[in-house]
Amino acid sequence: MTSVVSEYRRILEQIAEAAGRAGRDPGEVRLVAVSKFHPAEAVAELARAGHSDFGENYVQEALDKQQALADFPIRWHFIGAPQTNKAKYIVGRFHLVHSLDSVKLARELDRRCSGKEVRQPVLIQVNLGGEVQKAGVAPEGLGELAQDVLARPWLDLQGLMCMPPLDGDASTNRALFARLREMSRELRREFGVDLPHLSMGMSHDFQEAVEEGATLIRIGTRIFGERPSKRS
Ligand SMILES: *Cc1c(COP(=O)(O)O)cnc(C)c1O
Repeated sequence: MTSVVSEYRRILEQIAEAAGRAGRDPGEVRLVAVSKFHPAEAVAELARAGHSDFGENYVQEALDKQQALADFPIRWHFIGAPQTNKAKYIVGRFHLVHSLDSVKLARELDRRCSGKEVRQPVLIQVNLGGEVQKAGVAPEGLGELAQDVLARPWLDLQGLMCMPPLDGDASTNRALFARLREMSRELRREFGVDLPHLSMGMSHDFQEAVEEGATLIRIGTRIFGERPSKRS
């Protein structure tokens, strides 16, 4: 077994343990392996071991990998900050977009979906890190954005995503995860919708995220090792 696969298996065990501590069914938590900057071959290795959910941040890199790995039954997740002019390359090509954070982007995704007649599942990314972060809608703007997305026929809102500041420790982040869960609960109540997903938790804090209700966790470094600084 390669180190990527053994580390992957270890993470699955830790997810199951964290779910157990919180009285949750481990089957509710899906691991998204974040492969940005890592070569298609690294993805193939994990796909051969039976893994199917992979996350990418950059449209062109993701499309290249989709093409190279077309023979594998992979569900691709778009987790990066999407530029509006890339919307046409995103819709219909990703199982889930985790990073919707503006009305402008919602409008463009919806328009592109309508052209292709595909419905696109999305999550709204919330900025819980305050001013140091750019990505994500501010918590005050969440209700308005959710209302906009829910009214768009081609977008299927499935939940919320957050990415705490990278320097936050796991216990600080735990409080942010709990806050995201509460925000989701409030939206469900306000709009009477079902929002099944919470995408939260990365290499250094996924166990806390699972304990706080994550259904999708996004792990790169722990599986694939440090990212090469440039795309290869
Ligand atoms: C890169 C990235 C991850 C993975 O981070 P690791 O610390 O390598 O696990 C998760 N989510 C998003 C949005 C990312 O950009």
